[in-house]
Amino acid sequence: KINNLVAAIERDIIAQTNTTQSKATGSIKNTLNAIQIIILLFVLASILLIALIVTDITKANKYRQLLEVAKKQAEQESRSKQVLLSNMSHEIRTPLQSILGYSEQWHKQDPENSFNRIIHEAAQHLLEVVNEILAYSSLQTGHFHFEKKAFILQDVLKETKAYIVVQAAKKNLFLNIAPYPEANILLLGDPFRLKQILLNLLNNAVKYTETGSVSLQTAFVEQEESWVCTFTITDTGIGIPEYLHDKIFEQFEQGTADHNQRQAGTGLGLGITKAITEAQGGTIGIQSSSVNGSVFTVTIPFPKASEMAQEQTAAYRQPQPFLGEVWIVDDDGLILKLCRMILEKQQIAHRIFSKAEDMISLLATQTPSLLITDIRMPGLNGYDLAKTVRKTMKNAIPIIAFTANALPNEQNKILEQGFDALLTKPFQEDDLLAIIYKEGFRNAQNYSPEPEKIHIKNPALPSELPDEIKVQFIQDSKEDLVLLKKALAEKDKDGITLLLHRIAGRTMQVGNKQTGMMFRQLEASQVANENEINEEEQLAIQTAMYQLAKQLKNLQ
Ligand code: ADP
Repeated sequence: KINNLVAAIERDIIAQTNTTQSKATGSIKNTLNAIQIIILLFVLASILLIALIVTDITKANKYRQLLEVAKKQAEQESRSKQVLLSNMSHEIRTPLQSILGYSEQWHKQDPENSFNRIIHEAAQHLLEVVNEILAYSSLQTGHFHFEKKAFILQDVLKETKAYIVVQAAKKNLFLNIAPYPEANILLLGDPFRLKQILLNLLNNAVKYTETGSVSLQTAFVEQEESWVCTFTITDTGIGIPEYLHDKIFEQFEQGTADHNQRQAGTGLGLGITKAITEAQGGTIGIQSSSVNGSVFTVTIPFPKASEMAQEQTAAYRQPQPFLGEVWIVDDDGLILKLCRMILEKQQIAHRIFSKAEDMISLLATQTPSLLITDIRMPGLNGYDLAKTVRKTMKNAIPIIAFTANALPNEQNKILEQGFDALLTKPFQEDDLLAIIYKEGFRNAQNYSPEPEKIHIKNPALPSELPDEIKVQFIQDSKEDLVLLKKALAEKDKDGITLLLHRIAGRTMQVGNKQTGMMFRQLEASQVANENEINEEEQLAIQTAMYQLAKQLKNLQ
C-alpha cells in the first residue's frame, strides 16, 4: 500500500511538474512573441522616423536653396537700386552744382534781380528733392547720420522761422512763431535734423492751407540730464481724415486723391520726418479733423550740453581771417571757377588745378594748408592723389574730398581712403567756407607763408586814428612785440598768454578786428593747451607777430 501510495504521489508530482513546465514554456513562448512584435514595431517605427527625417532634411534643403536664391535676388535688387540711386544722384548733382553755385553768386551780386532769385530758389528746391530721395534710401538701410554738437534751441527756431516766413507770406497766411526768449537753452544733438523735422511739418502746413494761419509752439521740460522738447505745428488747412492718420507716415503715401490733385509732392516727407524723430528717441503724433486743419506734435529728448561744447561750436562761426593757402583740384572747369570766385571774394589765398599731376609737381617746393580734391578724374584720381600727398608731405594736412556721391555707404568708403572730410556737391558758398575753416583753420594759422602770399581782408590798421592814439598804439605794440619775442625764446607760457591777450585787446580796440581776433585765437589755444608751447604754436605766433609788425610799419 505504501509502495502504491509513493508511486501515486510520484506520478502526481511528475504530472504537476509537466503541467508547470508546459505552462512555463507557453509563457516563455508568449513573451518571446511579444518581444518579437515589439522589436518589429520598433524597427518599423524607426524606419518611419528615418524616412520622415530624410524627407524633412530634403525639404529643408530645398527651402534653404529657395531662400538663398530669393536672398540673392533681393540683394541684387537692392544693389541695383543703390547703383541707380547713386548714379542718378551723381548725374544730377554735378550739373546742379553749377546751377546752384553760380545762381547763388549772381543772386548775391544783384539781389534785386528776380530772375536770379527764381533760378537760385528753383535750384535749391531741386536739391531738396534729390536729398529727400537719398534720405529715403538711408531710411531703407537704416543708416542715418546724426551730429552731436552743442546748439541753442532758439537759434534753430529763428532759422526755421526765417525760412518759413517767406513761404507763408507768399500765400498770405498768418504765421505764428513766437520769439521764445526762454528757449535759450543749450542742447546736445543735431540742429540740422531738428530744423529738417520742423521745416517738413511747417512746409506741409503751409502747403495744405489756403487761408488762415500756421503756428509753431515749443515747450520744454527740464530733466536731470536732458531737456524734453515738444513742438506743436498747427494749421487751419484742409486737415487729414482719421482713417489716413497712420498711412500718411508711410513712404510714398499721400493723403486723399483731393490732396494729390491739389499739391505736388513725393509722399516721402512725413515718412522721413517720423524716421528721423524716432532715431533720436522721439515720437511724432497727429490730431486732425477735416474741418479744423491739422495738428502735428513732435517730442524729442535732447541731452544737456556743456558751455564748453558750445564755445567750441561757436568758434567756427566767428569771422576770423584764414591765413593759409587752399589748393583745389577738379577736372570740372566750372567748379574751379566757382571756387575761385568764392575764395577771391573772401580773400583766401588759393591755387586751383585741373589735373592732379600738376599739383603733385608743385608739392616738392610748396605746401598748402588744406587740399580739396575731386574723386573721379581722368589720369590720377582723388584717391591716388591723397595717397601721394600723404606719402610726400612730412606734415599732415587736411585733405577734403569733393564728391557728388552722396549715399552714406559711398561716403564712408571715401572717408576710409584717408580723407579727413567730405564736401558733397552741390555745395554753396557757406558750405565751402565752413569746411575750409573747420578742417583747415588750425593748420592755416600755423602756416608760414611767403610774405607776398599773406591775404588779410584789411591788412592796414585804420589810418584815421587820432595821431595821439596812433603813436601810443604803435609804441605799446612795439614794446609788447619785443616782450613777446623774449617770452617765446624763454618758453615762458604765462608771459606769452598774457602778451597775446594784451595785444589782442589793444588791436581790437583801435578797430582792427581781424588781427585782434587772430591774437585772441592764439591766446585761446595757449589757454586750452596745458603743455609747454610747441613748435607749431611758436610758428603761428611768429607769423602773427610778423603781420602786426608789418601793419605797424604801414601805419607809421
Ligand atoms: P507730400 O506732402 O510730399 O505729399 P508727405 O509725406 O509730407 O508727402 O505727406 C503725406 C500726405 O499727408 C500728403 O500727401 C498730404 O495728403 C497729407 N498731409 C501732410 N501734412 C498735412 C497737413 N498739414 N494738412 C493736410 N494734409 C497733410
